[in-house]
Amino acid sequence: MSEAREILRQHMLKRTNCREGIVSLMLENEHALSEHEIRDRLASSYDRTTFYRSFKTLEESGIIHKIVLDSQKVRYAIARRGYINSHAHFHCNSCSSVRCLGSASIQPVELPEGYRASETEVIVHGICRNCNENVKS
Ligand SMILES: [Zn+2]
Ligand SMILES: [Zn+2]
Repeated sequence: MSEAREILRQHMLKRTNCREGIVSLMLENEHALSEHEIRDRLASSYDRTTFYRSFKTLEESGIIHKIVLDSQKVRYAIARRGYINSHAHFHCNSCSSVRCLGSASIQPVELPEGYRASETEVIVHGICRNCNENVKS
């Protein structure tokens, strides 16, 4: 069974070509992708409505998750095996790639009295390994 199928099965989602296509594409990429990038690569295979519906289902089921850099930059990544549910992300200032730090847990932030957190997001900005190596050579 392909990894994509396995993931859909684990989340008790029916396998459709489009769902499997999106999951496979995201598994192939180490970096988080924008919705535009995902749609671009799959646009020829599925119609818009099918694509959006599948995308939404995958997001609602937690298979893929959103990383919001700012209102202009939203990326999506797939939760791979062993990833902590709420993990930190890394954004490279040089190549603007974004990736999951799947094993980096987010420490709860101490809040003033009367405040209640619903979500905590951590995005580390810096230089990724690839860009770092390019500078050295
Ligand atoms: Zn980089
Ligand atoms: Zn992530």
